[in-house]
Amino acid sequence: TNEAFSRIEKLDGDVQAFLALDKDNALKRAEELETIPAEERGPLFGLPIGVKDNIVTEGIETTCASKILKGFIPIYDATVVKKLRDAGMITVGKLNMDEFAMGSSNENSAFKTTKNPWNLNHVPGGSSGASAASVAAGEVPFSLGSDTGGSIRQPAAYCGVVGMKPTYGRVSRYGLVAYASSLDQIGPITRNVYDNALLLEAIAGVDPNDSTSADVPVPNYASSLNGDIKGLRVAVPKEFLGEGVSEEVRQSIYSALEVLKGLGATVEEVSLPHSKYALAAYYILASSEASSNLSRFDGIRYGFRAEGVKNLMELYKETRAQGFGEEVKLRIMLGTYSLSAGTYDAYYKKAQQVRTLIKEDYDKVFENYDVIVGPTAPTAAFKIGDNIDDPMTMYANDILTIPINLAGVPAISIPCGFHEGLPLGLQIIGKHFDEETIYRAAYAYE
Ligand code: GLN
Repeated sequence: TNEAFSRIEKLDGDVQAFLALDKDNALKRAEELETIPAEERGPLFGLPIGVKDNIVTEGIETTCASKILKGFIPIYDATVVKKLRDAGMITVGKLNMDEFAMGSSNENSAFKTTKNPWNLNHVPGGSSGASAASVAAGEVPFSLGSDTGGSIRQPAAYCGVVGMKPTYGRVSRYGLVAYASSLDQIGPITRNVYDNALLLEAIAGVDPNDSTSADVPVPNYASSLNGDIKGLRVAVPKEFLGEGVSEEVRQSIYSALEVLKGLGATVEEVSLPHSKYALAAYYILASSEASSNLSRFDGIRYGFRAEGVKNLMELYKETRAQGFGEEVKLRIMLGTYSLSAGTYDAYYKKAQQVRTLIKEDYDKVFENYDVIVGPTAPTAAFKIGDNIDDPMTMYANDILTIPINLAGVPAISIPCGFHEGLPLGLQIIGKHFDEETIYRAAYAYE
């Protein structure tokens, strides 16, 4: 823990990953843990971790990188934070993100833009950009992120670390500030696959406080990592290597597939025909859910409240006008529109139908294959400022991660090479609740 704080002191002026540090409490807790006898210590005991700022932490300000939550100090810990504590881990601070997890670059944070540690002129990805950057910079060995449409995997790819989005329902969302509740999942970001498996095991499992958490046994993931993937059936969707994916990314995937073949896996091309509708469906569904979820920020219950207003209605309006950033407002408007009488059938309902078709594409492929493999993102990390005025390019960046959230299946991003000094990511997608096979494949490749 001391080492984490000294790395943060040395590097965070450049990387800008942390929004809040909890040094005194963390060091105190580290000291308390020393009294626990060796035989009661698990594999993660005493290790420091950073937590994305949309996961509530008792007594530590939680802002979702939004002005509207400035000053909000939660009175309870998210289930995952409680589980980290039970595992003997030490939360050192809260990590920057795109406001309310809306974004792909950390440029939508109301407070600062986190930098990619491999090249400070480039974005770390988003929205869990700082969760990935802090691990890549060696500030912390572990972090938690959240993934609604790629927010764990894309930053993991951009920063050259390992990020897992578990199956929807695998990890409790109790205490995760909701963006799009039917898509959101918390997951681990680490330096290697083994660490990742340990951390998922620690945070996974059914939770009475989250009715969407699933009562499915949590395997001991790390124990099945033996490097043996002989006979593993790997599917490569042709839609994942087509238009919009850069040549260097394509080449890195072809090399990765050779490695998997060399390890005894069979590799075949498949099709996920509805992939091309995923982006449009996602932005309607995610924005719709967000417009409803974010209605709770009214200036009464949490954080910031506008001053100098004449009545209650003005208080709501002014608080939200001053508190939310541009991207958040854009999505609230888009979502409210999609859910309105008169547009609901044409947009929201249609997007839900598309979602079902996408899920069925995945179910079908998984009848004959163990994992689906492809790139995590179409390019390496782009330059800060390059896409900020072009929402379509920014949104298109998530084209390879979004369908996985719509289908609800788990997927990991692991490093697979570099382009001009910036890391590239390999995405391995698995069946519902089969994170185990993903980890086995990822570990063998790594
Ligand atoms: N970039 C996507 C969005 O802005 C995904 C973000 C996420 O997964 N939280 O919605």
